[in-house]
Amino acid sequence: MSEKIFDTVIIGGGIGGLMAAYRLRNLAPDMKIAITERGNSLKDRICPAGKEKTCVHCKICSITSGFAGAGAFSDGKFNLGTAYGGTLGEELGDDIANKYIDEVDNVLNKYCTSGIPKVYKSNDELRLKCIQNNLRLLDMNVKHLGTDNNFATMQNLIDAITASGTELFPFYDCTSVSKENDYYILNYINGEVLKAKNIIIATGRSGANFVSDFCKAFNVPMKSNHIDIGVRVEMKDIIWREFSSKIYEPKILYKTKTFEDRCRMFCFNQGGLVSAENNHGIITANGHSFAQSEKKTDNCNFAILSSIRFTEPFNQPTEYAENISRLANMIGNGNVIVQRFGDLIRGRRTNDHRLGQNTVVPTLKATAGDISLVLPHRILSNIIETIYALDKVAPGTANDDTLLYGCESKYYSIRPVFKNNKFELIDNVYIIGDGSGICRGLSQSGAMGIYVADCIVGDN
Ligand SMILES: Cc1cc2nc3c(=O)[nH]c(=O)nc-3n(C[C@H](O)[C@H](O)[C@H](O)COP(=O)(O)OP(=O)(O)OC[C@H]3O[C@@H](n4cnc5c(N)ncnc54)[C@H](O)[C@@H]3O)c2cc1C
Repeated sequence: MSEKIFDTVIIGGGIGGLMAAYRLRNLAPDMKIAITERGNSLKDRICPAGKEKTCVHCKICSITSGFAGAGAFSDGKFNLGTAYGGTLGEELGDDIANKYIDEVDNVLNKYCTSGIPKVYKSNDELRLKCIQNNLRLLDMNVKHLGTDNNFATMQNLIDAITASGTELFPFYDCTSVSKENDYYILNYINGEVLKAKNIIIATGRSGANFVSDFCKAFNVPMKSNHIDIGVRVEMKDIIWREFSSKIYEPKILYKTKTFEDRCRMFCFNQGGLVSAENNHGIITANGHSFAQSEKKTDNCNFAILSSIRFTEPFNQPTEYAENISRLANMIGNGNVIVQRFGDLIRGRRTNDHRLGQNTVVPTLKATAGDISLVLPHRILSNIIETIYALDKVAPGTANDDTLLYGCESKYYSIRPVFKNNKFELIDNVYIIGDGSGICRGLSQSGAMGIYVADCIVGDN
């Protein structure tokens, strides 16, 4: 086996890793760069649930892992600002963060060749309507590629990165890193070993355990971040069309009256499908939609998540969220569960009979059940309040036939403490994207990748 030595190894081939590689190559044409990825090449990423309509628990989930990362099959909504999708604006200042988000947009413009993406502008009328109902609409311009166009754009970008000499290694799942003189030694589950002077950790949310192991091994302190737990909500598309036709993706915050907790409605998919994803054996709900009209459904879906920030002495927020999702899988016989809102409010489980008569036809084959047996009272109460609050601006949201899929959760819980504003963890090891705890979306993850590439080559 020949020894593979690189100037920079990027662990994780999502948008963060790809943008970092792209920028490094442009700035330093002679740099020897590799991207190592736990999952498959983009064109070979196939989720069997597409055929079966249910998750078959693949060892490596093709939805979350593989080149182009968690966003590969996403709707391709690129937030052209810092209002949401992460806290890069707080870290770098809005001007610098926006400059890097613009850079991501420039790369998209270059490689998006299968259609002209639509840009949705912010809307005062809807913002006012929300304010009048104690809701806060998070508003900024959004570029929408759609699933197919996003996939093609990512493939074009990957082709360009490969053509420029960067080496791509699919099925390279990095298990540990050690230091030997001037080099880091990266060990992979397939027995391969790579050496690198610089490492960029771009492992996204699915690489949370890798990041925490790395931080423990190199004594990088971690601070507690928040987690978001809740449900994926599905209803007739027409209910949210006033919003989706004007701003495409409503993202709305609500402060609940009972607990004064922050709940957010986000990840909206017009005409979309609810999907299941496998996070290390735990099946959670998500959603996506296609750009082409023939692939649209009659439904829309979005997440409603309640934010929790734990305080001392508890320091295992990810495990907490995972255990809640595990409970849903236990009740759902290894699957996510689905419940009609009307059944939830009446305190009864949804069964196949009632689901079969529902006017909203589920787009994911989930197990009919009872979400109140899974979610803690505080979270469930927050979600119910939020649904009633949203019903005021989009009447019909709180209909009996609205479907709730449990659980959906987002973990931002382990957030390493950076050595400096280059997002360096230890000398020459940088972290970017969702795995850093800073980003929650494509644009900011990509922007952070470009920013760190500039730091490595010396521009920042
Ligand atoms: C269904 C879905 C729809 C979404 N839709 C949108 C959207 O429309 N707009 C938006 O802004 N955001 C969206 N998001 C969020 C967005 O995809 C993420 O914010 C973004 O992908 C984060 O990029 P990243 O590069 O940090 O990580 P990721 O995209 O998660 O990529 C990380 C990669 O690292 C790999 N990896 C992990 N650990 C290891 C390891 N130890 N060794 C090797 N490789 C490893 C993983 O396999 C993965 O491919 C969506 C997410 C999902 C799941």
